[in-house]
Amino acid sequence: MATELKSYLSGKWQGGSGKKAALVNPSNEERVAEASTEGLGLGAAVEFARRVGGPNLRSMTFVQRGEILAKLARSIGDAREELIAIGIANAGNTRSDAKFDIDGASATLMYYAELASSLGDSRFLIDGDGTGLGRSARLYGQHVFVARQGVAVHINAFNFPAWGLAEKFAVSFLAGLPTLSKPATATAWMAHRIVERWVEGGLLPEGVLSFLCGPVGNLLNHLTGQDVVAFTGSGETAARLRSHPVLCSANVRLNVEADSLNAAVIGPDVSLGSEASNLFLADVVREMTQKAGQKCTAIRRIYAPSKQLDEVRERLVERLTEVRVGDPAQEKTAMGPLATSDQLESVRSGMNQLAAEAELATGGSKPLTAIGAPVGKGYFVPPTLFVKREPGATDALNRHEVFGPVATLMPYEDVGRLVELIAAGGGGLVSALYSDDRKFVGEVVTGIAPFHGRVVLGGEKLAGQSVSPGTVLPQLLHGGPGRAGGGEELGGLRGLQLYLNRVALQGDRALIQQLFPPHRPAQ
Ligand code: NAP
Repeated sequence: MATELKSYLSGKWQGGSGKKAALVNPSNEERVAEASTEGLGLGAAVEFARRVGGPNLRSMTFVQRGEILAKLARSIGDAREELIAIGIANAGNTRSDAKFDIDGASATLMYYAELASSLGDSRFLIDGDGTGLGRSARLYGQHVFVARQGVAVHINAFNFPAWGLAEKFAVSFLAGLPTLSKPATATAWMAHRIVERWVEGGLLPEGVLSFLCGPVGNLLNHLTGQDVVAFTGSGETAARLRSHPVLCSANVRLNVEADSLNAAVIGPDVSLGSEASNLFLADVVREMTQKAGQKCTAIRRIYAPSKQLDEVRERLVERLTEVRVGDPAQEKTAMGPLATSDQLESVRSGMNQLAAEAELATGGSKPLTAIGAPVGKGYFVPPTLFVKREPGATDALNRHEVFGPVATLMPYEDVGRLVELIAAGGGGLVSALYSDDRKFVGEVVTGIAPFHGRVVLGGEKLAGQSVSPGTVLPQLLHGGPGRAGGGEELGGLRGLQLYLNRVALQGDRALIQQLFPPHRPAQ
């Protein structure tokens, strides 16, 4: 029998009635768990979070909140092997994919735990320097961030069940806003087990975390202007949220992390065989195949100088054809299946769209024999590289994100055209440049920075210590303009702003500074 995954609402575990959504093992299509949210009291749940969780959380200082975050991080670390097994069984993760998700979750919680310890025994944040407003020094203005009095609703994508839960929760919790977290149903088991451990361990004050396991139902109808929605997922669902009648009429704050056509560029100064070129090739192959390319930060568009195009193609094809695709429960497997049958359909159709405009270098949409999978079962596709020799701004590859192990290699002649083509992606999370030519790097960065949340500069000197562009670091912003959703998450303390209310205080300087003194680090 499949495990029933319940929701944790109003301080208790509750199962929905009616038909249950199935969670399957994407390697063999067998049902591994199920969940329903039908008939659950979602209005009562958000009210409970606001009424019970809000005061519990706001009564704690930043330092106290940080101490709890550290315990949550350790709880994930202690269950690492169990969680890896869930990632293999429910998300098609290899061990290494699952570790990336799980370790990313605990590292982000720990980062915010440490950041909290530097904020002192305070419950608000001072926003920049105050300013004089009159002729005397007495009349003064100061911006301050204070906790909102609502609930943070987190809606996550299927690809990072552990990290998605933790990276959002670390920030809203530290800011002082109780959270209701909703994972994508298809891969919810991992997030469910983490929350179950936190609840069983009594690690969280009552009401500060609720968990909705299954379809979202009418949850959003219960939100108000003190609440915040942080969404990660497809541009299509994001568009529905942007026009949701209650979110619009109540002006509920909404942050969107959506699609992205991330680029990687190898500079004209980089010769193949150099450290910088090896870094470029390793990053491209990792970003294409990690989690079977189901990463919002995966590299989708690859640019090489025209004269090097064929050589780059050859080296990429060589590496990509070596990637062994199969059931991640098998030791030999280096890349697992896509997470769901919908994903398989969408990736195959995306590959066909790209194939209509570009030449297939390796892979493709035909069924393949996967290591250890029953014949004809599983949502497998091979790493797939297209080559587009005459790229244009309106190409399908600049409009459509194929959310799988798929990328297109293209040539460029000059910086102006390169920047134009990258910008044609409509706004992205992260792009990476591999070059030690400062002039080239300067021109490209200046050109593409307005279209990105993050730009990674890789080169010879960083080859041994560089972090792959697809790794989201809590110190730096995650998000991006346009197609990427226009949102911002993480970035150290910046991430907290989403969950806080910025208020301008205007009045007597001494009184304002007494009420809201600058922070003193904890002793
Ligand atoms: P999705 O289909 O948009 O689903 C995302 C989440 O939204 C799921 O939890 C889903 O719940 C929920 N949802 C679906 N319909 C909803 C509605 N009407 N109202 C409220 N919530 C609703 O996306 P996905 O397939 O899980 O994820 C893949 C996409 O996410 C890709 O396009 C990828 O680029 C993007 N992504 C972006 C980032 C980023 O940080 N920018 C990170 C990861 C993924 P159910 O599962 O219950 O339907």
